[in-house]
Amino acid sequence: MNPLIEQADRVLAATYKRQPLFLKSGQGCKLRDDQGREFLDFLAGIAVCSLGHAHPRIAEAVFAQAKTLVHVSNLYYTQPQVELAARLVEKSFADRVFFCNSGAEANEAALKLARRFFKEKGQPHRYRVVVMKQSFHGRTMATLSATGQKKIQKGFEPLLEGFDFVPFNDFDALSGAVGPETCAVMLEPIQGEGGVRCADPDYLQAVRRLCDEKGLLLIFDEIQTGMGRTGKLFAYEQFGIAPDIMTLAKALANGLPIGAMLAKEATAEAFGPGVHASTFGGTPLVCAAALEVLNIFEEEKILQKCTAVGAYFKDALKGLKERHFSVVDVRGMGLLLGMELDKEGDPLVAACRERGFLINCVQGNVLRFAPPLIIDTGAVDALIRCMDDVLDESEKAQ
Ligand SMILES: *Cc1c(COP(=O)(O)O)cnc(C)c1O
Repeated sequence: MNPLIEQADRVLAATYKRQPLFLKSGQGCKLRDDQGREFLDFLAGIAVCSLGHAHPRIAEAVFAQAKTLVHVSNLYYTQPQVELAARLVEKSFADRVFFCNSGAEANEAALKLARRFFKEKGQPHRYRVVVMKQSFHGRTMATLSATGQKKIQKGFEPLLEGFDFVPFNDFDALSGAVGPETCAVMLEPIQGEGGVRCADPDYLQAVRRLCDEKGLLLIFDEIQTGMGRTGKLFAYEQFGIAPDIMTLAKALANGLPIGAMLAKEATAEAFGPGVHASTFGGTPLVCAAALEVLNIFEEEKILQKCTAVGAYFKDALKGLKERHFSVVDVRGMGLLLGMELDKEGDPLVAACRERGFLINCVQGNVLRFAPPLIIDTGAVDALIRCMDDVLDESEKAQ
């Protein structure tokens, strides 16, 4: 074992249950550890490195920008930031973009904007947000308060006030939770951390109509589902509706830290000078990386590839379900796929790792697959062969 692992366990905050794997380098969909072992990456740094590891064009863009201008603060204009905002506006429902550094921060901005919007409208009593059970919105005080998972909130009470939790995909519960103090509804089109649970199209359309009728803001957390993960640039495009506010982070700069909160003009108006800020938000460096990501998406038809390989992958997972009694459900969209088991998933994650495949488990028993969007069917076939073996072995022991 790498001696640095022992040191890491002494000097790092013990907040993560890390796998015993010391990674040194990557290329495309492959990662290499300190012993030279190779792994096929079906997690992509939790849906972050969507164009794969060490992408030469992104490395080049970052290097070129690092030699030119890294950071000046938001007291000034810089070209990569303006260009990135313009590209995101052009490709989405939104008119304005606020840049920050992470998903949680993007959601903080969205929640602050929702409250502020109604204060500016002269309706200061409207501040409550309807959110979903099993959701995940981040680890800051506001975003963990909005997260529908007790294990994430435990020990941090008192939580931020003003969140009303309802079951996901239950329209009656949602409309019943809306009251005179409600300002917004916030949800993930697909709950990633919550077990890869997709919203029903009918449900999302009904939620959109309800928000219009009641004058509520609809906030989509697309931190995991955005940037092509489902086969469209943004997941809302799969459902024939658009939110009023959308948050992005994870894959936006393929691994450089960036978050973004996008909003329609009518909503974004509530964020005037001095109302919200971030020192690092939208530095020329991260924006140059994100711009190159968007260039590559277009030139290499990444969305089409994701849709095709995603469908192939999902079919292959359904094949596993037919062959293995311990597979209970297969779900997801594009290359955000989940396989629910009738047992704990961690042993399978470990067994796959031993065989050179990195996968992930959420909610204890749902294997989550979020490979780079550039993954090919050959890699999918290899994983499925591995999963067949691993499931056989675990079922024999069951
Ligand atoms: C990862 C994630 C977040 C939090 O992002 P951080 O960058 O870790 O703060 C929020 N919402 C969703 C849906 C996510 O997947």
